[in-house]
Amino acid sequence: MSILNADLHCHSVVSDGTLTPEALAARAAANGVELWALTDHDEIGGQHRAMAAAREAGMKYLTGTEISVTFAGQTVHIVGLGFDPDDESMRRGLTATRGGRAERAKEMAEGLARVGIQGAYEGALKHVGNPDLISRTHFARFLVETGACRDTSEVFRKYLTEGKPGFVPHRWATLGDAVAWITRAGGVAVIAHPARYAFTANEEYALFTEFKAHGGQAVEVVTGSHTAAEYVKYADTAREFGLAASRGSDFHSPDESHTDLGQLPYLPGGLTPVWELLSDRIR
Ligand code: AMP
Ligand code: MN
Ligand code: MN
Ligand code: MN
Repeated sequence: MSILNADLHCHSVVSDGTLTPEALAARAAANGVELWALTDHDEIGGQHRAMAAAREAGMKYLTGTEISVTFAGQTVHIVGLGFDPDDESMRRGLTATRGGRAERAKEMAEGLARVGIQGAYEGALKHVGNPDLISRTHFARFLVETGACRDTSEVFRKYLTEGKPGFVPHRWATLGDAVAWITRAGGVAVIAHPARYAFTANEEYALFTEFKAHGGQAVEVVTGSHTAAEYVKYADTAREFGLAASRGSDFHSPDESHTDLGQLPYLPGGLTPVWELLSDRIR
């Protein structure tokens, strides 16, 4: 076991979380987190605030982001850790990745209007902390607020996933670009929550193989969206592909997230923790 309370995956108001970077840092520290990373979707605008707040709270810090990628027709998330937060080509890449979100959100609202849900674009916007980053999560919060659904998972199930009225297919970054932005900025690329994707065994094998070939170095083994059996499965996958292992709650909100910051089991033994690859990038 690797006995370090590292939480290297969570979201603030800079993407689809409900807490500020400062409030997240305070919560992480109160929960005993020793090494922290804020990983907002397609955004690094909160990194300097998070770093300062981590220092204030007595935690070590790694820079972070979670990049939306399209692979084999599905959305895959690639976490980046320990990169230079001022790297220009990474900033440009993330700006381009965020680019289609406003248009997509308007189309989502049109789809919802066709099933009788009016004003969803304006309603979702009221939950948005960063106008550049309107996401399905903000629509989900609006639909809970109006009483259309009991909780955000019900909204995703009924309205926001493939084949449902508010779902709009979208082309995100390529796997190769996302890994290159992270690694050229001095960071390590990590496949986020691999058990969440609906890939066949062959597609999953292709994801890991191509990720490695592009220079990806780690995979999330212990995350809020894996079961205990999946920790074991992806620990095996990490060993098979020679990848380091990461740990992160994927915390979004005290009201929605079932896993709080710093509350997951430690990484299983026999794995290289991703932070060992990043010892010179820890702040
Ligand atoms: P987007 O980037 O706009 O497609 O939104 C993706 C975000 O929606 C994810 O990062 C999660 O925060 C959230 N999400 C996706 N699927 C679900 C689900 N089934 N239940 C709750 N939240 C979800
Ligand atoms: Mn999210
Ligand atoms: Mn994700
Ligand atoms: Mn996430």
